[in-house]
Amino acid sequence: MVKLDFHPAGRHFLQIPGPSPVPDRILRAMSYPTIDHRGPEFGALGLKVLSGIKKIFKTEQPVIIYPASGTGAWEAALVNTLSPGDAVLMYETGHFATLWKKMADALGLKPEFLGLPGIEGWRHGIRADLIEDRLCKDSGHTIKAVCVVHNETSTGVTSNIAAVRKAIDAAGHPALLLVDSISGLASADYRHDEWGVDVTVSGSQKGLMLPPGISFNAVSPKAIAASKVAKLPRAFWDWTEIIAMNATGYWPYTPSTNLLYGLSEALDMILDEGLDNVFARHQRLAEACRKAVNTWGLPVQCADPEVFSPVLTGVMTPEGFDADKIRALIYENFDMSLGTGLGKMKGRMFRIGHLGEANDLSLMATLAGCEMGLRMAGVPLAASGVLAAMEHLSSKKSPSMLKVA
Ligand code: PLP
Repeated sequence: MVKLDFHPAGRHFLQIPGPSPVPDRILRAMSYPTIDHRGPEFGALGLKVLSGIKKIFKTEQPVIIYPASGTGAWEAALVNTLSPGDAVLMYETGHFATLWKKMADALGLKPEFLGLPGIEGWRHGIRADLIEDRLCKDSGHTIKAVCVVHNETSTGVTSNIAAVRKAIDAAGHPALLLVDSISGLASADYRHDEWGVDVTVSGSQKGLMLPPGISFNAVSPKAIAASKVAKLPRAFWDWTEIIAMNATGYWPYTPSTNLLYGLSEALDMILDEGLDNVFARHQRLAEACRKAVNTWGLPVQCADPEVFSPVLTGVMTPEGFDADKIRALIYENFDMSLGTGLGKMKGRMFRIGHLGEANDLSLMATLAGCEMGLRMAGVPLAASGVLAAMEHLSSKKSPSMLKVA
């Protein structure tokens, strides 16, 4: 039985791939008193976050902010753009793609799942050529949307969204492109406008370093046009009234005031560091993490170096070693949470999150916890991954330290 009031010495290491640790600056910002969500001060906050978040999505178009988890924003993307019985082409990259498809089924859409067989699809990025072939065969344009996951959090694979856009264009197909970048946004390069995405779905608890509780739909003019004729039932999720009221910084209902204070602070932090520096920091940490895993002699879940995720690394455990038992050992001994294997990978892998405010030393401590836990579990390791990661990080100057030099 876990006691809720037990606090071991020091900080808990929350190294799951979201929710990511919330920086002190953001926690402090969220502790401001809650204000009247119809008063003048709130309007200024609303306008600030609604314009700032566009820079993170790299869009000039509206971004809708819901007081909901990412799953709500998934539903919003589907119900605002589609009608009952519409065919949608989805791509199986992993557990989250599978859940989004399940939701499409539940809403009365007709999803078709493309992908590689077995767990192969869970180790590779999206094959844009398969999407192009399928759309070329759909000469009657019955497929109304292509739905893909940018950063598949269950596996650690970041797909090439520009290539998916190109595939849709090459097929000359009018389907909407809906992208889940719930765990990619603000950690991995993402360009809503440039990549011609119609709806990007995201959430607060990953690269944005906020607690769970707010989520996003970035929309294109084509998506807004589709919403005018889409017939799936919707009320709370409906974009129209929200976009209209957002023009003055307000919402048609009570928004998550204190999470928006946090978002305002997160935007300052990310834009001050610079998005490119944020992405480079994530890439650097992911490289060091993979160095450690390779040195242990364990396979990284993502089998294609082109699409390694900068957000998390999936580590496959050898036959006979239950990854969840190793995670439990690490939790009990070192007060660190690692991501569990999901769906098809249950018990076969654990996931190391290196996103949000992660830095060189937080990664080193994380890898040390993993290495100690793997040794305690009796997993045979080829050599010390911690030493290899240290070597890697100390041979390359950290991009975030360049300002100090
Ligand atoms: N999609 C992806 C890629 C995710 O990582 C998650 C959550 O981790 C979700 C969807 C679901 O979001 P939420 O749990 O915030 O509802």
